[in-house]
Amino acid sequence: MAHDTHIAADTVQPAGILPEVFREAVAQADVAISITDTAATILYVNPGFERVTGYSLAEARGQNQSLLSAKTTPPAVYTQLWETIGKGEPWSGRLVNRRRDGSEYLADLMITPVRDGDGRVANYLGIHRDITELHRLECQVCNQKALIESVVDSAPLAMALLDGERRVVLDNLQYKKLTSELGVGEAAKIILDAVRAEHGDTLGVPRDGAQAFADREIRIDREGGKAPRWFSCTGTWVRSVNAATYAFFGARDSIYLLLIAKEITQQRAQQEQARMAALQAMMAEENRVSGLRESLSAALFHMEGPMNVLASVVAMQGRRGQHDPTAAALGEALRAGQQALDTLRRATPDLIGESVSAANINELLRDVLDLATVRLLRAGIMVTWKPQATLPVIYGRPVRLRSMFKALVDNAIDAMNTKGWQRRELTVVTRSRAGSVEVLIEDSGPGIPPALHLKAFEPFFTTNPGGVRHAGTGLSMAQQVVADHEGIIEIDADYDSGCRMRVALPCQRETF
Ligand code: FAD
Repeated sequence: MAHDTHIAADTVQPAGILPEVFREAVAQADVAISITDTAATILYVNPGFERVTGYSLAEARGQNQSLLSAKTTPPAVYTQLWETIGKGEPWSGRLVNRRRDGSEYLADLMITPVRDGDGRVANYLGIHRDITELHRLECQVCNQKALIESVVDSAPLAMALLDGERRVVLDNLQYKKLTSELGVGEAAKIILDAVRAEHGDTLGVPRDGAQAFADREIRIDREGGKAPRWFSCTGTWVRSVNAATYAFFGARDSIYLLLIAKEITQQRAQQEQARMAALQAMMAEENRVSGLRESLSAALFHMEGPMNVLASVVAMQGRRGQHDPTAAALGEALRAGQQALDTLRRATPDLIGESVSAANINELLRDVLDLATVRLLRAGIMVTWKPQATLPVIYGRPVRLRSMFKALVDNAIDAMNTKGWQRRELTVVTRSRAGSVEVLIEDSGPGIPPALHLKAFEPFFTTNPGGVRHAGTGLSMAQQVVADHEGIIEIDADYDSGCRMRVALPCQRETF
């Protein structure tokens, strides 16, 4: 059969296009085209075929297409090729071919079965091009990608690439490990929240190569007895070429945020040790001062009552014009008593001065629990520490806040540490609420009866009159500190498994 009759078949020829046009189009096409019979015997090849393979029409005609096989393509590929075209379906794939001069090339081949007027497959149309260079470049890209991935994976840094919706589109092994270790969702979100919470950073305007933030040290708190972890974080904007078709001619590139987090927990642990030692010394001094203030305030409070009575008696006697020896003695006693009160007031030490600064409530509570470890262990109290992984900062007086939380934790320990008390559990929770940070300190002690919930904040009120540790000023002091920070402190009336103190401190404050 003549090979050109099939291409010029009337059934497939669009009206108005001459058979010669088809012939010329095939002849001049810049790809290797061959037309075979159903046994792959070559009937026709175009000049493009000669340019790719080195075989002219005269040399190729009558030969099988296997003429081009480099004999290295796996037989399974040919089996699949023949199975497909045998069913009358087109096949496309890659084969290793050999040119006339013996050199090998990679062919990207498409075979289309061509049917005759009766609908039977009579010929095959083969179109292929040399994709050796393309394949080489593909391999190069793959190798580079594998190399970059192995370098990025073995780096001791957690890395993640985030898209505009802050979704992780690429990450390394360290990042995956970090996410699973933190166990509270995507690590990138926690890191970005912490950067914002601790440094108030906005990420700025995305610009290729610009840094959204650099070397930001953040602290991530974890539940249970686990120590907090520290990271030094950097965010860099990077541009990525958009692979979508719509962006082919447009400059619709996307900007991503490359997040790099380096763990610095060990370095921080050493600093923390030194800080804790200094803190212990400072808290000891604080305790001494507040103990003294507490004792002297209690003495003043208890003496002021009788002194007021005495002052009224002396005033009454004065009004009645009584000037007998008893009145004189009472007047003398009043003067001496007032002098003694003045002396006590002067002897009352001032609170340690402190300026306003940014405070991390998780850090303060963690300090308090660390400082109370020995007491907690001695009392056999089980502690559940449930911090929100990252918290917004509070602007206030950290030393006073820490003392306030310490007073609440001390109260909780005292409440449970009584002879015969079985359930000894302390739970400390932190969480951020709209514009504030909330702290819950729950103990499984006997609790405070609802009728005393307000009275408990009065100075010198105590449910434990025989107690040696406090004169009943802990809660009044706590209320004072919270009020100074424009916050709220209350005893949760709905909690009936002990006592739950709720402290809410606002993040933003107008004044101080
Ligand atoms: P073969 O012994 O020829 O065959 C290998 C496998 O193919 C066997 O499993 C056999 O069963 C099956 N097979 C072979 N011929 C047929 C057939 N007529 N019907 C059913 N199954 C069959 N091969 C290339 O290597 N490079 C090319 O560029 C190329 N272009 C082609 C273009 C067209 C249009 C067609 C139809 C085929 C093309 N082939 C090409 C396939 C080629 O015909 C050979 O099948 C292949 O080269 C393997 O040849 P071989 O001598 O190594 O093995």
